[in-house]
Amino acid sequence: MQRSSPTAKFRLTASAIASHFKHRCDRLFRWNAVATAHRGKPGIGWNVPRRAREHSRPGIALLMAAGDEFEIGRVQALEAEISALSPAPGIEQRIHYAIQPDRGRQRVAPLPLPDALALLRQPSVPRFIAQIEIDLGPHPAIAAQFLQMFGLDPDAIELGVSRPDLLEVLPPDESHPHRRLRVWDFKGSQVARHEHFIQVAFYTMLLEAVLSCSDVTGYAVDTEHGVVESRAERTTFDLAPYRLALADFLRNRVPALLALPAADAHFHVHEGCVLCEYMDECRSRADAADDLSRIPYITSESKRHLLAAGYRSRRDLVPLDPATRQEEIERLRSLSHDLSTNVARYIAAAQALDDGEPRVLEKHTFQMPWYEDVRVVLCAEQDAVTGTCFALGIKTYEGWDAAANRPLGQEHVFIAQEKGDEVSILLPFLQTLNRLLERVHQENASIRAQAPESDPQVSAAEAQVAAAQAELDAFRARHEADLRRRTPQGDALRAQREALRQRVEAAKRAAKDARTNFFKAQRRAQKRLHFYLYDTLDALVLKSLIERHLFDTEPPELLAELGNLVRLFPPESVLPDADTFRTIPATVVVQMLRALVALPVPYGYDLRSVSEIYQPESGGFQFRTPYGFSWEHSNQIAFERIHDVWNGTEFRYQQRGTARVLTPSDILQEIDKAVRAKLRATDSVVRRLKADLGPKGQLLLRKEPFQLYTAGDPLQVQMFEALRIFTALEVSLAELEVKRVHTLPVSDRVASFVCIHGLRAETDTLGADGTIWFRFDPAASDTKFEPGDFNLVLTPADEPAILLSDIDGELFNSSSRWRYAPYKVKLVAYDLHSSPPRVQLAPDN
Ligand code: SF4
Repeated sequence: MQRSSPTAKFRLTASAIASHFKHRCDRLFRWNAVATAHRGKPGIGWNVPRRAREHSRPGIALLMAAGDEFEIGRVQALEAEISALSPAPGIEQRIHYAIQPDRGRQRVAPLPLPDALALLRQPSVPRFIAQIEIDLGPHPAIAAQFLQMFGLDPDAIELGVSRPDLLEVLPPDESHPHRRLRVWDFKGSQVARHEHFIQVAFYTMLLEAVLSCSDVTGYAVDTEHGVVESRAERTTFDLAPYRLALADFLRNRVPALLALPAADAHFHVHEGCVLCEYMDECRSRADAADDLSRIPYITSESKRHLLAAGYRSRRDLVPLDPATRQEEIERLRSLSHDLSTNVARYIAAAQALDDGEPRVLEKHTFQMPWYEDVRVVLCAEQDAVTGTCFALGIKTYEGWDAAANRPLGQEHVFIAQEKGDEVSILLPFLQTLNRLLERVHQENASIRAQAPESDPQVSAAEAQVAAAQAELDAFRARHEADLRRRTPQGDALRAQREALRQRVEAAKRAAKDARTNFFKAQRRAQKRLHFYLYDTLDALVLKSLIERHLFDTEPPELLAELGNLVRLFPPESVLPDADTFRTIPATVVVQMLRALVALPVPYGYDLRSVSEIYQPESGGFQFRTPYGFSWEHSNQIAFERIHDVWNGTEFRYQQRGTARVLTPSDILQEIDKAVRAKLRATDSVVRRLKADLGPKGQLLLRKEPFQLYTAGDPLQVQMFEALRIFTALEVSLAELEVKRVHTLPVSDRVASFVCIHGLRAETDTLGADGTIWFRFDPAASDTKFEPGDFNLVLTPADEPAILLSDIDGELFNSSSRWRYAPYKVKLVAYDLHSSPPRVQLAPDN
């Protein structure tokens, strides 16, 4: 065993800080702060694993190469963009950069700091300087000055190399007497994220220290704005909040994090760890210790609270039986907002992992129906390298074909065979989907078009009415004079007439019942249709795919097919009965699993594990693919394989000691099979959920017969049509989001800070000021409502349907909003110091 040098220092890098802000993981920061040479050695590197040479996925190399390609592409595009601009005094409209090969890839070459400073000293400077390598190893005084600004010890910490992607030289202006150096960074993600802004903020602070110690004059670092250029957009952002957050982190958090032995740094293995380089290491350590993070979807904060309360492992939660340990459970509930809502789920999941038995939680949902006639399972696979969708899948189920003794339904898979050519799959995907929707719509429309008179029972009943009425009319005509006489004979005739009249009334009632039964049967005969996707990521990939092509002019059919999607989300309701909840068109299965069941699957409910242990009684299906076509803990098909197809390369791997080679066309076939497996496995999980939850009344979504919105002529001008579709989709999705929140159980709405519950009025009537004070559950103290907020609604907690029917009313129909006037209140004030807390409300109608 080697001891690390007694002078071993922690290494602070921009990427380690950015990773901390991304993952919020103390362990990740503590481990990343140890240079490779000191890892695994006594001292600061003890218990710090060596870096995984190959990251857990081969695709990471593809992503890194794509990142380099992206950066070169953006630098060249920017070069073209500025070359046409007129120069500012002393500033040339060019970028100083070079491209160099590196391990088989091309990248922008780093520019040593002294060279960059030399450039700035010249009378005429380039507008941009790329990849300045800020290595303060040879400049310990500057590093010390930087670290001491935050109270950090230069004898214990050194600064790693930092490389801002671009430095822009801005000319002086009225408010800035010096030229300013603005930091840009390129990020291969779709959009800029807060950890990217933090990274830029770090570069600005470092550059300030460098400039202050250099002999370069006439420059200041731009501390007001930074730029992050992602795939989707160029974002110029305010630096102030990020510099503040970073300074606070460096000053107040870093010393404590580095003071910890590596083994004691808090960690939490969860879904967000998938792309962390330590995931395999962390999972095996967590498995060995039966760590609390094995409980699926437990939060990091709840894990901290449980650890502090003495629950060291998943196993410690197993004995918490509500029948015998209620007091202890209540104590845990009081520890945090999340535990107050989810502790029962955490305990059930811990127990499920103990005995392998799935458990159904005592929860209900308005987001999934028990029944539908047409089940449509969708999936969308993303290529993380190009940010495009490379495969789409549709599986439909429309009941059982008794004659063929097999399910009625179809499967369709669409795979992009050229790099990034997602239109080639989007169009046939939409065509297939839309033909299905139109067919179901048409079938339902035909059923609705049937007149009640075509029903034999209605017509027989109507005939009875006519016959009884005719008999009564004939009797009246025959005995017209005698019926008026006050004689015994007249009395007898009038009694007969009354009997005949009652027969008519009875026949009319029977006819009315026959019509009602007809309409009921007609309604039952129409089909309900519902969509399912396994993962939120599939839904996001699909939504982004549609958004990317909404303004495409080619092929012309695409816009028409996209227009059909709007018919799924009509801008105004076409349904008369808003009290039934037709309005959630799709269910994300993993969200249902998370909310409604506890499964013996650690960390998170990936389709591979769930489909293996959570199957319906018959016809269950597991999500399995050959090696390399999907990866553990991910529900996506491996994007690495579509790159093999696009690059025309073979995929080689070992299977039980035998070398296997797949050609690009073999790979396409396997991707096709993998997508089908995903669709079937999703369907299998859906069926099991329905079987477990439906009979217990936990699936409360009641679907209406399916129909597409048909009113309104499509606009002729393509751009306007695209805008109309875009607007309708945006509005529809926003309304659906409100609806989705309203379908959540009260406890989940409280946990999302959008509900105050447990309200108890302090008086029976309004006070002189027209308000009334309510006490409420302290768990809801963090709600995001502010005094002065209006348009809030007050509804009974035990009647959740009111929110969906009376308040939301008909989706996309703002004219129905008057209906919630009786429930409207305005929030006047809080009194959070009293116990329980109080809120003052006023009617707002
Ligand atoms: S895998 Fe997760 S828990 Fe482990 S270091 Fe990375 S972020 Fe932290």
